[in-house]
Amino acid sequence: MPSKNKSVLNQKTTKYEFLGPIGAFLMITVLPILVYVLHLSCQFDGHPSRELIVYLSDINNLKTLFTLSNIFSLFDPTAFLAYIIYLAYLIVIFYLIPGRWVEGTQLRDGTKLKYKENGFYNLTLTLFIILIILSTKGHEPFLFIDHHFIGLITASTIVSFALSFYVYLASFQEGKLLALELNPRIGSFDIKYFVELRPGIICWIIVNISMAIKQYHDLGYVTIGMFLIVIFQGWYCVDALYNEPAVLTTMDITTDGFGWMLSFGNFTWVGFLYGLQARYLALHPVYLSRLQIIFIICLQAIGYTIFRGANNEKNHFRNNPEDPKYIELITIINILCYDEIDLKYITTEAGSRLIISGWWGRARHINYLGDWIISWAWCLLCGFDDIIPYFYVIYFAVLLIHRERRDEEKCKKKYKKDWDKYCEIVKWRIVPELEESFEAGLFCLERQISGDVQHSSLRTSTFL
Ligand code: NDP
Repeated sequence: MPSKNKSVLNQKTTKYEFLGPIGAFLMITVLPILVYVLHLSCQFDGHPSRELIVYLSDINNLKTLFTLSNIFSLFDPTAFLAYIIYLAYLIVIFYLIPGRWVEGTQLRDGTKLKYKENGFYNLTLTLFIILIILSTKGHEPFLFIDHHFIGLITASTIVSFALSFYVYLASFQEGKLLALELNPRIGSFDIKYFVELRPGIICWIIVNISMAIKQYHDLGYVTIGMFLIVIFQGWYCVDALYNEPAVLTTMDITTDGFGWMLSFGNFTWVGFLYGLQARYLALHPVYLSRLQIIFIICLQAIGYTIFRGANNEKNHFRNNPEDPKYIELITIINILCYDEIDLKYITTEAGSRLIISGWWGRARHINYLGDWIISWAWCLLCGFDDIIPYFYVIYFAVLLIHRERRDEEKCKKKYKKDWDKYCEIVKWRIVPELEESFEAGLFCLERQISGDVQHSSLRTSTFL
């Protein structure tokens, strides 16, 4: 891309987000520490969080915490090498495994970038390799992850810092920093697209599986809570990779430049912190009652129905703007039933259409609600002994609320008065008015009872 164009296409942000330089400094320092603290507080010796709080509340302990020898002890050469091999493996299979080339959304210069879609096959191969290792070498090799957990976190953190430093340097043109690049590439290798779904998500699955194996090694069995966390989170990851092209319409790809936050967020935060519940359960097995388990499974099903339903609906609509017909899951109550709906939309002066019915007619970010409900299901599997595994649900609420505000601001700027019109029609931000949803649920139940929902090849009732 010629350098003249580059400054036009990668326009400088005029307003700070995340509290500007102070926020950036705090994030770069506090977030990595938080990942260590949360995982160290799950350590085997002593009950985690309370012991840690007692330890940290003593100022003398705090002073000794940041000594050079303590900091260097976080680095583990074996873990670092293993992590680099893992990344090299991902890059090799990204190139070797064939995939469909899909187009991203339109860029400011009117062009569209192409992306190779083979994440799901990359994951399938990885799971196959795990199976082969398990059946030939047993579960011992997987204990490596538990033994080197802190070292692996450090390795991913170093990689994330190094990569963000690289893209920072690469964004300099003629000695001047132009802006964080939206789509930094090395040749045809799109760094953000690769980092967004592969190293973090595949690592998360591997971490969870090895935590279940560790529990099996210690107890001789896997608890139902551990089994469900591996299935639920594994499903979420498989779903993300299976629906890989859907990432191309998300804010991370369309709006956010690639810098430290996305780099660290994917390598370390998703890769290791998202495995916190599994690690907690590996070190502190929790035994849930049947009723609790049924409740949690229902929560997961409800959350997933909303989350996947909404994201697919938008993705389908954006890819087929002339064909608003869409087959969706009707309601939470009828989660086993699909129905075809004719999506309603408004046309905007900016060119894109905004859906005003289906999931997107219920709230402007109903997909966030689904995601948040899912996060509750995961945390509840860890019981009520400790707040540590609930970090995710708290952090995720903050992330989603903040994300909603940012997206709202972006859309207001893009769609201007059309956005106000849209907000008048779809009034709720994340949580639709409960009363409204209840009525919609009752309405669908009535249709279901009266046999109004047809069952043809398109309008089909499908069991999940
Ligand atoms: P969304 O998928 O919600 O996309 C927002 C964009 O969709 C808007 O900027 C706008 O873009 C378009 N849009 C908004 N309203 C409409 C409408 N009515 N009709 C059609 N298009 C519309 O954003 P995210 O990228 O934030 O989230 C994607 C998913 O990822 C969510 O389910 C979220 O929960 C999940 N997520 C998960 C995280 C995790 O760590 N687990 C982190 C972040 C997100 P345009 O300019 O094209 O109109």
